[in-house]
Amino acid sequence: MKKIVAFPFRSQKALMHPESRQMLLDAGFEIVANETGAALPADQQKEMIKDAYAIVAGTEKYDAAMLEGCDNLKAVIRFGVGTDNFDLKTMKEKGIEVGVIANHDSVAEFAMMLLLSAMKNAPRLDRDVRQGKWARYPQKELTGKTVGIIGFGRIGRRLAEMLQGFKVNLLAYDPYLNEEKAAELHAKAVTLDELLEQSDVVSLHLPHTPETDHMCNADFFAKMKDGAYLVNTSRGKLVDEKALVAALESGKLSGAGIDVYEVEPVTPDNPLFKVENTALAPHCAALSYETNYNGAIVCAQSIINVLNGEKPVNPLF
Ligand code: NAD
Repeated sequence: MKKIVAFPFRSQKALMHPESRQMLLDAGFEIVANETGAALPADQQKEMIKDAYAIVAGTEKYDAAMLEGCDNLKAVIRFGVGTDNFDLKTMKEKGIEVGVIANHDSVAEFAMMLLLSAMKNAPRLDRDVRQGKWARYPQKELTGKTVGIIGFGRIGRRLAEMLQGFKVNLLAYDPYLNEEKAAELHAKAVTLDELLEQSDVVSLHLPHTPETDHMCNADFFAKMKDGAYLVNTSRGKLVDEKALVAALESGKLSGAGIDVYEVEPVTPDNPLFKVENTALAPHCAALSYETNYNGAIVCAQSIINVLNGEKPVNPLF
């Protein structure tokens, strides 16, 4: 039986680093990849994965129907960390090993960039200078402000480390966080309401689940401090974009830095395009050179580990 690694992920070209590719070939794998640069229709994705031993997955869906009949499948490695597109229960039941890569440095740096861009009005300044316009806009300093991190996992904690140099007061809300764990990173564990009332900047680093869907709604924004900023590098569906736009237009919020959207790729009617006090990016916070390179190696090594009867490098279970 041939051992196949399938790359249905539309960004596979960036991921198939020559070194990771060679690791898989040396281990006796055959590689089947989505060369189109676009998301595959479900039937083509199914055709690509049906005989695979392992899958390197992006944000495409792997539900029970997609996994049906994939009897040779032993490993699914997500080239990222978000697994909200995976049916983890079915994968576990089928004995499929599931792993992720590590991208917390890249995403935490990107959150810092969006946060500072929004506070300094960077997108407007850049656009105006290029158009020969010498306009100045209000700027805020981050130094000494209160930053609230919602979701104190890998990325939230890395952001907390990076913020130390700005002498900020750090608040953290995470249902699985205790005071000691927060204090290790000089953060104070608080309730969600306390965080919203006190923070000058709120940064989201939690998963999208049925329970967190549209968590940032009109009520959430009303509880935030006047003139605060929102940064979202997590998942677009955490935020009710219409309510965010209303808060930005009314001046309740001073600005926002957004990498992820309710509908991706964004459509021209996205309500956020109406507001200027935002720094926007196309869901690319994790796409640094270093993360792509290290991630490709971690994917290949994880698949080889599973072939050798071991766990993926960063196993989910
Ligand atoms: P993680 O699993 O290490 O941390 C997530 C944290 O959120 C955990 O500590 C968990 O306890 C906490 N959490 C769960 N439910 C919560 C709730 N209701 N309220 C507050 N906290 C809650 O994950 P991570 O690697 O830090 O990733 C965080 C998010 O970033 C994920 O949603 C992931 O999909 C997203 N992400 C986005 C990009 C991008 O390119 N923009 C890249 C990587 C990750």
